[in-house]
Amino acid sequence: MKNCYLTDNPKTTQKIGKSLAGEVFKKPPKKGALVLCLVGELGGGKTTFLQGFARGLKIKEKILSPTFIILKRFEISCFGLQSFYHIDCYRVEKPKEILDLDFKRIISSPKNIIAIEWADRIKEIIPKHAMQIEFKFIDKNKRKILIK
Ligand code: ADP
Ligand code: MG
Repeated sequence: MKNCYLTDNPKTTQKIGKSLAGEVFKKPPKKGALVLCLVGELGGGKTTFLQGFARGLKIKEKILSPTFIILKRFEISCFGLQSFYHIDCYRVEKPKEILDLDFKRIISSPKNIIAIEWADRIKEIIPKHAMQIEFKFIDKNKRKILIK
């Protein structure tokens, strides 16, 4: 997967997310869950990207960013996977808030995929093998996406 993209509309950002979903199975982590860390400012396109990513996992429900929900679980019924967890740390002040949601158990299962927006707020508890995706705001409709 190429690691730097320019997008000038939300649909393209969703498509990039969707194609990443198809790629990640080719190189699953040796143990534990696949963890994606999404970083970048508000409006950068993290949630939009995850809408496409979830579509790629055949999840029908729409990924939203409701203000007061930190963690939401979605069922996956293909690829031998069980759950997709969408975590949004925008309002999180300390990693303990996430640990209290059974985070350690969630990241230990290879049947889970976890996407964490604002992951830089809980750096201390992110596993080393996590993928990093950076969103840079260029102008009203342009975003740069870096996948590491
Ligand atoms: P974040 O989760 O990073 O805060 P969102 O995905 O919720 O960002 O919001 C991105 C906002 O920017 C949306 O309102 C979307 O319509 C708008 N937008 C404009 N251009 C793009 C683009 N190229 N990619 C993603 N979002 C875009
Ligand atoms: Mg968001």
